[in-house]
Amino acid sequence: MTTKMDEKLEPIFQEVLSRNPGEVEFHQAVREVLESLGPVIVKYPEFGQHKIIERICEPERQIIFRVPWQDDKGNVQINRGFRVEFNSALGPYKGGLRFHESVYLGIIKFLGFEQIFKNALTGLPIGGGKGGSDFDPKGKSDNEIMRFCQSFMTELYRHLGEYTDVPAGDIGVGSREIGYLFGQYKRITNRYESGVITGKGLNYGGSMVRTEATGYGAVFFVDEMLKVRNESFAEKICVVSGSGNVAIYTIEMINELGGKVVACSDSSGYVYDEKGIDLELVKQLKEVERRRISDYTQYRNHARFITGKSIWDIPCQVAMPSATQNELTGKDAQNLIKNGCIAVGEGANMPTTPEGVKKFLEAGVSFGPGKATNAGGVATSALEMQQNASRDSWTFAYTRERLQDIMKNIHEVTYETAEEFGSPRNYVVGANIAGFIKVANAMVAMGLI
Ligand code: NDP
Repeated sequence: MTTKMDEKLEPIFQEVLSRNPGEVEFHQAVREVLESLGPVIVKYPEFGQHKIIERICEPERQIIFRVPWQDDKGNVQINRGFRVEFNSALGPYKGGLRFHESVYLGIIKFLGFEQIFKNALTGLPIGGGKGGSDFDPKGKSDNEIMRFCQSFMTELYRHLGEYTDVPAGDIGVGSREIGYLFGQYKRITNRYESGVITGKGLNYGGSMVRTEATGYGAVFFVDEMLKVRNESFAEKICVVSGSGNVAIYTIEMINELGGKVVACSDSSGYVYDEKGIDLELVKQLKEVERRRISDYTQYRNHARFITGKSIWDIPCQVAMPSATQNELTGKDAQNLIKNGCIAVGEGANMPTTPEGVKKFLEAGVSFGPGKATNAGGVATSALEMQQNASRDSWTFAYTRERLQDIMKNIHEVTYETAEEFGSPRNYVVGANIAGFIKVANAMVAMGLI
């Protein structure tokens, strides 16, 4: 169970609320971490003396900028760009860029805050950051996307660098956008600095398995949780929300491990296919043609497209929310538990509401929080940086093996940390504490900076 917040931490949380008004997602993310840290401040009083928690909750730097661009009709459009450089105790700031109309500072700060601990869990030398824009890429032409990305990078480039801050993709930022962003960075700086951005195409410095990494890694993590229960993916009915990068490669790896995914979604509704989602069709619709998931039923007549209802109503044994924050509520969790769900792996960041998390933990469902479960993406980004630094490129098989090892380690560390701090099988507590201690120790060592 998530624990109640320790009374010594409550004033710190109240300070976060009053210093960051209106940023509800950031508050939610901070609360979840602070609720896990009670036993840590008892064991490590020096973290209190050095005000590590207060310092971790305050980003090192926050950049907000205007992004003017011209649409295809010649009209001037203005968006807002963000980069929150949250914590660099373990390495250069690292975290994706999100282009979605819902983006505002509170979303970027919640994502950046989570990223600090996630990146620490990977065991790789990367700090935490996140960025993005309230730009909505849906329905925009390639040229509009390119002009927007160029304008965005024209401001952001001065804050980046392979040893400073290294962005990547997230919602609305895939290989097309990364290409335009990198191209503009290269042009402005006159430097071919491959390690300044990750998620690049394979023909110009990208890493094998980066595209697949978040989804594959999430399934590897859930597979480890299932092993603890003497279970496996074989024959399991699964539901995966979303139909973007994370969802697609989650489905691919579940299929490889013998599970069957019967539903996936986008923001307009979900597709239910009891014969098992046809992944090649989803890839064609979403990755190649950039169409809506509702079009699936045009090609598979037996499948149904359902709108206005929750995808979590569908009975399944494994649920992998892989779309966006707060998409799985307490009521959804209740339904999943009632229908026999035994494991939940968060492919997305914070997709389960606090009430949902509480219900899963109370019911003994194996619950993998995003900062552990979806860390495979950023871990493979760090492997991309390693390859760029040594001007090398690794094979698919080798990179996949590295990813699988990293996910196994993250599972082991979170599992053992939860036990050590008195919350066995609580991966939320395990991930928060293990990530936090690593960053906190580095901050203490570096003095008051
Ligand atoms: P994509 O843009 O590729 O796909 C996002 C998917 O989620 C789409 O199907 C989209 O549908 C759906 N979605 C987005 N917003 C909403 C919403 N408000 N309601 C319902 N559905 C929505 O993004 P990714 O797959 O890259 O990211 C998915 C999640 O995984 C995010 O939480 C992201 O932060 C997290 N993540 C991603 C990583 C990565 O490597 N890509 C790494 C770690 C975490 P529609 O097209 O209709 O908007």
